[in-house]
Amino acid sequence: MEHRAGPWPQTTAAPIAFAEAAAMVAGQSAAALAGLQAEASDCACALSDALGRVLARALLADRDQPPFARVTRDGFALLAADLAAGARLRVAGELRAGEAWPPARPPLQTGQAIEIMTGAALPPGADAVLMVEHAEDIRGGSIRTLLPRAGRTLRAGENVVPRGSEARQGDVLLEPGTRLRPEQIALAASCGLRSVAVYPQPKVAILATGDELLEPEDVAAETIIAPHRIYDSNSHALAALVRQAHADPLRLRAAKDRREDLSASVREGLNAAPLLLLTGGVSMGRYDLVEEVLAGLGGEFFFTGVKMQPGKPVVFGSVPARDDQPARYFFGLPGNPVSTMVTFRAFVRPLLAALSGERRWQPAFALAALASETSVKPGLTRFLPAWLDTNQPEPTVTPVANKGSGDVAANARANCYLMVPDDCEYLSAGQTVRVLLH
Ligand code: AMP
Ligand code: MG
Repeated sequence: MEHRAGPWPQTTAAPIAFAEAAAMVAGQSAAALAGLQAEASDCACALSDALGRVLARALLADRDQPPFARVTRDGFALLAADLAAGARLRVAGELRAGEAWPPARPPLQTGQAIEIMTGAALPPGADAVLMVEHAEDIRGGSIRTLLPRAGRTLRAGENVVPRGSEARQGDVLLEPGTRLRPEQIALAASCGLRSVAVYPQPKVAILATGDELLEPEDVAAETIIAPHRIYDSNSHALAALVRQAHADPLRLRAAKDRREDLSASVREGLNAAPLLLLTGGVSMGRYDLVEEVLAGLGGEFFFTGVKMQPGKPVVFGSVPARDDQPARYFFGLPGNPVSTMVTFRAFVRPLLAALSGERRWQPAFALAALASETSVKPGLTRFLPAWLDTNQPEPTVTPVANKGSGDVAANARANCYLMVPDDCEYLSAGQTVRVLLH
C-alpha cells in the first residue's frame, strides 16, 4: 500500500518471535534502569503513601534487630540448666513487654524464675523461657513456685531471639530498586522511619487513535450513538494498567486517523512523558498511520510485529535524545482491546517497572492444571483469556469462551491469560500450563 512505502525501513521487517521481542524489551529495560540510577533523582515519601513506590536508597538497620534478646512466648524466664535438674523454681517477680530490668537489680540467680510476657527483654542471668503451658504455677501465701510439667526440658536460648540475630545495626535491609509492599513497609516502620526515599513515578502518555472512537461526552443527550461509532475503551484500560503498575497515566484526547492530527498528538505525548502508548493504527490498513507518523518524528523501531496472538502488529521503539528533549520510548499497541491489554502486560509492563526504578521485576505467572483440552494453530505465542481457580488444592485454569481479540466482555470474565508456546498445537486436559496473571 502506497502510504506504507515511507522512509522507515523497519516496517517491512517480518514479525519476530515472542521470546525475541521479550528479550529486546528486557535489554531496553536494563538500559532505562541504568539511566535512571545515574540520574539519582529521588523524593521523600511518607510511609503512609509508600505502598507500591520504589525505594531509591538502601534501607539500613537503625540498630540491632531485635534490639534486645526478645522473648517469644508468655512464660517464665529462667536458666535452662535448672530445669534439667528437675528442681522447683522460685518465681521472683514479673517482667512485661516494654519494661526494663532495673539496672540496680542483680541478675537472676539459679533456682529463680521471672514470669515474663511475649515481647519482653530476657532478664540478665536467664537464658531461656519456659512456656506458661508447660509449667504449674503454685501460689502458697507470699511464696510462688514453679513446677515444670513432667518431662519438660529446655535448651538454653529456647523461646528467645538473640539481640542482633535478625540484623546488625547498619546492615542493608532493602536494596534500592525494591518495590514497597506491606512487608517492606513494616520493615521500614520497624526502623523508626516515617518516610522513605523513593523514585518519582513515571508519567505515561496514552493516545488512542481511530476515526470511529467516541467519548461519552461527545454524544449529546438527545442523540443516539451511531452504530458504526464505538466508545474508546483502550485508553481507559491503559490508564488502569498504568495505575496498577503504580505509574502516572496521562490520557490524551483520541487522535483521528489523519497524519496531521496524529502527528500533533504524538508530539504532545512525546513531550509530556518518557513513555508514550498508542493504541490502534498499527495494522496493515490504509489508514494505519502510527508507524509512519512515529518515523516522521524521529522514531526508531526495535520491532514492528511479534509472532503472538493477540497482539501481532505491536511496535516498540524510541525517539533518541535531542538537545531539547531526553530519549522517549513508545509502543504502538494494536487497537483490538484484548490485544492492547495483552501487549501491555507482555511488553510495556517490564519497561515501566524499569522506568520506575524497580530492579527485580518479574511477571506474575502461575502454573495450573488445564481444565479441558485446547487446540491452537502453532506458529504464534497465544494468550487466551482464562479463569484461574486457586480455591482448591490443585489450581485449575479454564479458557473463557470468546469471540476473539475484540471481545472485551469475555476478557472481563477472565482473571488471567493462558499462555501457549508458539510450537504447541495441542494441550491435553490436566496438563500443567503457564498463566499470566492480571
Ligand atoms: P486498529 O488497530 O486501529 O486496526 O483497530 C483494531 C480494532 O480495535 C478495530 O475494531 C477498532 O475499532 C478497535 N479499536 C481501536 N482503538 C480502540 C479503542 N481505543 N477502544 C476500543 N476499541 C478500539
Ligand atoms: Mg484504527
